Amino acid sequence: MSENGQIPSLLPAKLYIVATPIGNMSDITYRAIEILQQVDLVAAEDTRHSGKLLKYYQIKKPMFPLHDHNERERGKVLIEKIQSGQSVALISDAGTPLISDPGYHLVNECREAGVDIVPIPGPSAVITALSAAGLPTDRFSFEGFLPAKEKGKQDKLKALIEETRTMVFYESPRRVTDTVAQIVNIFGADRKIVIARELTKTFESFYALPASEMVDWLNQDTNHCRGEFVLMVAGAQKDEESIPQVALNTLALLKEQLPLKKAAALTAQIHDQKKNELYKWGLDNL
Ligand code: SAM
Repeated sequence: MSENGQIPSLLPAKLYIVATPIGNMSDITYRAIEILQQVDLVAAEDTRHSGKLLKYYQIKKPMFPLHDHNERERGKVLIEKIQSGQSVALISDAGTPLISDPGYHLVNECREAGVDIVPIPGPSAVITALSAAGLPTDRFSFEGFLPAKEKGKQDKLKALIEETRTMVFYESPRRVTDTVAQIVNIFGADRKIVIARELTKTFESFYALPASEMVDWLNQDTNHCRGEFVLMVAGAQKDEESIPQVALNTLALLKEQLPLKKAAALTAQIHDQKKNELYKWGLDNL
């Protein structure tokens, strides 16, 4: 017994961010299981859902609900518990907490309060999908969920028109067809899309098609819109020919002596080019 009468925790009193499966229950690390077995308390988005997960691994722990809407307030209680010596695991319904899931405010406030945070890595749909999509992965942009309202969604997609990295979106089955149709309107019919559906589950499937054909495929059969989706969109092709080679040469030369921003600004003046495009080209190529 400790001074305050509690049985001492098996683990140091910290916040453990524990990744859990995104479908296949075997996708969990030994370390994640050990941590869940040893912590004093498991904080979860949906305690009923996560209760089933713990039961599957034969782990019995007190649970603490933590939703998006009460995270700040309930997070304070959790921090007090950790400061009084308890170890706490945070899990979400699936995958890695904080990745389009609650936890950001709690982690941020733990940092502010000097509480240690230990990540226990594991599955996340974004990385799982990218790893088998066949799109460039050297640089990518995780965009999470698009806004639900049409205008917000269109504005967000318009802001991404020039994005050259592979873009990754989470999408619900109800909205996926509309989202792909908006991609056709905004990015063009030929933009390559890869859909990763039901990852790690029985009906796991990948479809890679130009955007307009993807709309047709989704409309073909209601089953094509069932399940969980990760939508990956190839980045915009850079039109390098629009920057004359002579300007690129100047930029490369100036960059040897100057920071890229300054080199791009001077090159833009000398060759009457856009400094942002030169800067972007420099970031990618120099
Ligand atoms: N925290 C999770 C992660 O690390 O990936 C994401 C949670 S977010 C609330 C749920 C979304 O993730 C789903 O709508 C879907 O877009 C994506 N997702 C989660 N599991 C998936 C799976 N097995 N197959 C495809 N997409 C999945």
